[in-house]
Amino acid sequence: MLKIGILALQGAVREHAVSVKRCGAEAVLVKSAEDLGQLDGLILPGGESTTMRRLIDTYNMLKPLKQFAMHDKPVFGTCAGLILLARTISGSDTSHLGIMDVVVERNSYGRQVNSFEASLNIKDIGRSFPGVFIRAPHISEVSEGVEVLCEHEGRIVMARQNLLLACAFHPELTPDQRVMAYFVKMVREAAATGAKIPK
Ligand code: GLN
Repeated sequence: MLKIGILALQGAVREHAVSVKRCGAEAVLVKSAEDLGQLDGLILPGGESTTMRRLIDTYNMLKPLKQFAMHDKPVFGTCAGLILLARTISGSDTSHLGIMDVVVERNSYGRQVNSFEASLNIKDIGRSFPGVFIRAPHISEVSEGVEVLCEHEGRIVMARQNLLLACAFHPELTPDQRVMAYFVKMVREAAATGAKIPK
């Protein structure tokens, strides 16, 4: 059975584990670099990216997490997880893992609409996906090689770069499993073919 890890330092961990299991894979909670061994794919959940980064540093996980992605294993970042993946965070000099060629803007929906739900049409996944946005970021720029999978009101909210998948919303908070099933399929294909992330 495929093993998919969920970074379990902070944030929406349990819901991802349920969703991974529903999609037919084993969910492994990742709390240290050692836990990354044996995994076929990894999810960086939503939560608070600055808090998550502090914990990643506390547990010496930054380099192992980057290496995991560089070793051709699929990684899926949702919301704060997208911020962790982004090469550039708008208005900040530093990034976290910095491995996906996108610019991300944090908290882009302002105070008045902290949280909302929107029906999304997602390329290769389908129509009317219930997107749950919670103090969500959005992708303001993508480099060549990054495929935009979904836009909402002119803003990019989901993208893929080879084996990296990222979205601004929380697919684990709805009963609709299509987004997670898409990631599990990516993991299955990568495990079967040994797909490569270009270095
Ligand atoms: N606003 C959070 C951040 O900047 C992300 C919110 C979320 O993951 N739901 O990290």
